[in-house]
This record gives sequence, structure tokens and C-alpha cells, in this order.
Amino acid sequence: MYTIKNYHFAESVDEVAALLQKSRANTVLGGGTWLRLGERNIATAIDLSHLGLDQITETEEEITLGAMVSLRALEQSTLLQTQFGGLLARCVRHIVGVQFRGLATVGASVASRYGFSDVITALLALDTEVELCPGGRLPLAAYLQQPPARQLLVAVHIKKDGCTAVHTSHRLTETDFPVLAVAAARCKDGSFRISVGARPAVAQRCPQAEQAAEANGPEAAGEAAAEMLQFGSNTRSSAEYRKVLAKVLVTRALTELAEKESLAR
Ligand SMILES: Cc1cc2nc3c(=O)[nH]c(=O)nc-3n(C[C@H](O)[C@H](O)[C@H](O)COP(=O)(O)OP(=O)(O)OC[C@H]3O[C@@H](n4cnc5c(N)ncnc54)[C@H](O)[C@@H]3O)c2cc1C
Repeated sequence: MYTIKNYHFAESVDEVAALLQKSRANTVLGGGTWLRLGERNIATAIDLSHLGLDQITETEEEITLGAMVSLRALEQSTLLQTQFGGLLARCVRHIVGVQFRGLATVGASVASRYGFSDVITALLALDTEVELCPGGRLPLAAYLQQPPARQLLVAVHIKKDGCTAVHTSHRLTETDFPVLAVAAARCKDGSFRISVGARPAVAQRCPQAEQAAEANGPEAAGEAAAEMLQFGSNTRSSAEYRKVLAKVLVTRALTELAEKESLAR
């Protein structure tokens, strides 16, 4: 459990950024679902709930998820059910339970760069940028390669490029962390984006699998993903098993994607 000395409702994102720079002991609060598992002495807990970051908004070009949008809101948004093949609603369905998902936020899920993150796996298969303060906007893939910095993740922006996408995972039990997670999207021009998470390192795209999917179909893509990505071992699985799973789950995701597309025609 954490201990908080001062509790502060932030008035602006710049104020949050300044507080984060001021002391390493100042900490942004999301829903508190992960923070509560650790032992932290927080000098100033920064509450974002007065900043209006709990909104899912849409323009002609993109959909924006504010940092404080809950995982439950992703599931329940009628807008997201009609975009990206319902990917964002679907990717969170195994995360603990409804009450938990009502608290856990998109901002923390991305900013924490968890290897097991279903949310990052799904967002990487879309054309996603993160908005940071300080730092502005940059592609999610580039953000994941940067070392963690004391920045506020303000929002996630997803281009409305008309892609259809699916998410699948393998878990030891229904609501456990994923042993492996896969998301695949088919773009309007016929190209693919394939992301594999919980390897157990943080999700990454697999360009070789994407090219194989376009040229030779789902099975070739599954083989390429298993061959080209690095897998590791942890308490949930060995690297060897994850490699086998990658082949199966990528093939399965792409097959489901093809079925979805043929139904939509
Ligand atoms: C038992 C359990 C099972 C889980 N299973 C899964 C799973 O299967 N798949 C999955 O994807 N996730 C899973 N999660 C992760 C879950 O979604 C996280 O708890 C969640 O992402 C954290 O959200 P939160 O809003 O409660 O963050 P908090 O606990 O409030 O914060 C977590 C960290 O993020 C920082 N932070 C919060 N918001 C921001 C921001 N906007 N900008 C920068 N930093 C920020 C905080 O300072 C803190 O360091 C699981 C978690 C638990 C506890």
C-alpha cells in the first residue's frame, strides 16, 4: 500500500508536468489499481480528475482517448464498438473484472509500458500516437522504445484509417495476465499491422509477419512471427512455448480477420 503526504487536484497538464519535474516522489494517480500493489511514499499525489481527460472524442481524422478514460469505458463506448472492428472493447475483456476495469485507466496502461499489456498490444496494431507533456505527440512504437521519463501521458490518438482489427490471447485462466497476446489489423490498402505482446517483453510490431500475411496468408505470417520475434521465459511460460503460441495465435488472428472481412462484404 502507498502513503500519500499531500493530495493535489491538478489544474492543468503543464502544472502536472512541473510537479513531476520537481520531485521523483511526486506521482500521477490513474485509477490506483497498480499503485496500490506497491510500497511507495508519495510526496504529492497528483489527481487528474479535474482535467477533463476522461473523454473519448472523435474528429474526421482520429479518435482521442484521454488519459483518464477507464478500460470499462473502452468496452462500453458505442463509438469504439463501430471502429477498428471493436478491437478496443475486446482487448480488455479478460482484465480482472468489471469493477476493476471501471477504475484502471488508458493513460496508466500505456505509460507503464507493462510487457503483459493487452491495451498496448491492441493500440500498436492501430495507427496510434501518444500525446505527452512535456514532449508533444509521437508514434506509440517510438514512445515504447524511449527510456521512461517523468512525463504525463495526456492522451492517445488513433487515426481513423478504416482498418478492421482483432485481438486474441492465451491465458492460463480466464482473467490471468496473458501468456501471449496478439492483435492484427488489415488496412484499406490491403496491408497488415501485427503486434505481439506479453513475450513477456512489451508488445512490438512484426514487419516480417506483416509482409508474409500480405504475400502468403495467415500461416506464413504465423511462422514469420515465431521466427523473427524474441521470446522469453517467466513463471507463466517458457520462451519455447511462447514461440509455438505466436505461430498459432498470429495464424488464428489473421484467419479471424479474413472471416470478419468476408462477412462485412
Ligand atoms: C491483478 C491485476 C491483473 C491485471 N491484468 C492485466 C491484463 O491481463 N492485461 C492488461 O493489459 N493489464 C492488466 N493489468 C493492468 C491494469 O490494467 C493496470 O492495473 C492498469 O493499467 C493501471 O491502471 P491505473 O489507472 O489503476 O494506474 P495506477 O495504479 O493509478 O498507476 C500506475 C502507474 O502509472 C502512472 N500513471 C498513471 N496515469 C498516468 C499518466 N496519465 N501519465 C503517466 N503516468 C501515469 C502512475 O504514476 C503509476 O506509476 C492488471 C493489473 C492487476 C493489478
